[in-house]
Amino acid sequence: MNPVLKALLSLQEVDREIFKVEAELDRLPKELAARAEAMAAQESALQDKRREVTELRTSIKEIEHTTVGLRQRLKKLEHESTSGTADASLIAAYSHEMRNIKRNVSQAEDAGIKRLSRAEVLDTEIEEMSTRLGEEEAAFEGFKQNIAAETEAATEKLGTLRADRAQRSSDGISPADFDVYKGLLRTRQGEALAELRDGLCEGCFVNLPKNIVVRLARGMELVQCPSCDRILYSL
Ligand SMILES: [Zn+2]
Repeated sequence: MNPVLKALLSLQEVDREIFKVEAELDRLPKELAARAEAMAAQESALQDKRREVTELRTSIKEIEHTTVGLRQRLKKLEHESTSGTADASLIAAYSHEMRNIKRNVSQAEDAGIKRLSRAEVLDTEIEEMSTRLGEEEAAFEGFKQNIAAETEAATEKLGTLRADRAQRSSDGISPADFDVYKGLLRTRQGEALAELRDGLCEGCFVNLPKNIVVRLARGMELVQCPSCDRILYSL
């Protein structure tokens, strides 16, 4: 086999593993961040509901306060109307005002009932959300520890793999070929080389033209798959 190809195959053995570990080290903090973000969004939704329910209760209190005032005024007018001191035109004015007050009280009560039922719905939602969030926060602690342990293990493994890789020779690989190889590691998820077997590229499973097979058999140059670009080898 072409010595450059042989050296690349040896590097590929360990680079494949390095690619996996690096991908894991890239993924782990992202997973943690995504989960933390999801929890923060839930926490914020919970705060919104809490704020809404507080506003509703304040508004309900105001409505109650208003209706108490209106009822007192109503009582006073009823008393005035029946005390015998008011003349007919005043009684008519009182009765007009009393009708208005009754309508206002009734509207205020309706508004109060609507706010109260919304507040009750929110109370239930808040309770459910806090329970769920509490559970998720507890689970998140475990998740965080797992991520930390996995990160530590992956970092250690990466160190070992890099030490192994440093032992492997890249003698004879030209900078240009090395760049092609490294580019393929990136674009082909850690698999820069592919076996050519029975005329088939084992990287992309495409049947390759005869001249590719011949060029590779000659062993004079690096031959790339015309379909997936991987550097071909045959055993
Ligand atoms: Zn291919």
